[in-house]
Amino acid sequence: MGFCKKCGSELKGNAEVCPVCGAVQDKNSKKKKAVFGEKVSQEFDEEDIQENKVAAVLAYLGILIVVPLFLSKDSKFARFHAGQGLAVLLASIGYQMAVGVMTSVLTVLSWRFYYLTGIMRIAGAAFMVLSAMGIMNAVNGEARELPVIGKWKLLK
Ligand SMILES: [Zn+2]
Repeated sequence: MGFCKKCGSELKGNAEVCPVCGAVQDKNSKKKKAVFGEKVSQEFDEEDIQENKVAAVLAYLGILIVVPLFLSKDSKFARFHAGQGLAVLLASIGYQMAVGVMTSVLTVLSWRFYYLTGIMRIAGAAFMVLSAMGIMNAVNGEARELPVIGKWKLLK
């Protein structure tokens, strides 16, 4: 027994349509998941996903990537996310270094470039966005390649 999501009328049995307002009661469809990127063809065990979600999330939290990388070796799901997290981490480190070099060079050339280096630093937030996407995917039990850098196959 339940109630209509739209009008609140009582529903009898497994009524899929509300007898009062006619609203469809898609009770079997789960809440829409927030997932990002392209789904991979690789198969993952549901059990593996459930057991290793936490490790998969840690893959996107900086140094905590060591957990899925070294402690959850047997989990395909954690390993997949470790690969994605590693791509984000390395790209982010590379980017920070590039920004550092550019900042030194531009500062020598003219202080007027300060806004440029400021923009570069702000653009670095893109890596936080990618990490957040990866975390959402992991939490939702999805194995998806993150935009742009998700294609890097750093782990086999
Ligand atoms: Zn209704």
